[in-house]
Amino acid sequence: MILLENVTKTYSGDKTPALDDVSLHIEPNEFVFLVGKSGAGKSTLIKMITKEEKPDAGKIVIGGIDLEYVKKRYIPNYRRRLGVVFQDFKLLPRRTVYENVAFALEIAGMSGKDIRKTVPKVLELVDLLDQAKKFPAQLSGGQKQRVSIARSVARQPKILIADEPTANLDKLTTEEIIELLKKINDFGTTILVTTHNENIVNSLQKRVITLKDGKVVDDQKRGGIYKLDDVKTPKTQTGRTIRTPGYAMKKKKVMIQ
Ligand code: ADP
Repeated sequence: MILLENVTKTYSGDKTPALDDVSLHIEPNEFVFLVGKSGAGKSTLIKMITKEEKPDAGKIVIGGIDLEYVKKRYIPNYRRRLGVVFQDFKLLPRRTVYENVAFALEIAGMSGKDIRKTVPKVLELVDLLDQAKKFPAQLSGGQKQRVSIARSVARQPKILIADEPTANLDKLTTEEIIELLKKINDFGTTILVTTHNENIVNSLQKRVITLKDGKVVDDQKRGGIYKLDDVKTPKTQTGRTIRTPGYAMKKKKVMIQ
């Protein structure tokens, strides 16, 4: 469970807050897209969850842990409970696919015997068992992202956070990665993905949270579509909804996908 209550954060030197009184509640096993224009506060929200940044005000509880009480020396330990995936993969270049995953487990304190059992299973999940001996430079972008996902899910985190995981990938590879995230979600992991990819958001029809100027301006709990603004569908004086052309087009697009 991810809980943010009235979270505000202003970076030093900034006049306006990066997050402004944000409250959110994400249940276990939800699949959530976090969208918003550049500068809306998406990365800051993720940094609040990973405790890379501290809020000025508000409460953050992740998987039952109130982050205010996680002392500095326990932060690495706390972070290992989350899976985090980045757009630039962050793989270790001098280690093979197998070693990249094994290393993450070693750091987490898993025994050699358990590592040897776990890594092949995880590589199978991401369909990379046959690439285990390759180095990152020998892989395609999509394969690199799958290694990064394998590394993140190897410890079976309850929550997987992906910050623009498909930003550097082509359309087909993007679909593959999103399918993989869906599969991981089906196994019971909560997924929070930031993205600018309108097609992916519209085709999955999951929960979509929109940030704008540091505020949650829209939260479509299910069947969500990509929205950058809080523009409500206008109503006539009789209360009937006027469907704007843009709205109709968006609806149509969703239906044909
Ligand atoms: P997004 O991820 O949606 O692009 P960010 O969370 O990166 O948005 O940024 C939100 C706001 O906070 C922006 O106005 C940005 O300039 C500001 N910001 C982000 N990181 C820092 C930082 N380290 N120092 C100062 N301002 C920052």
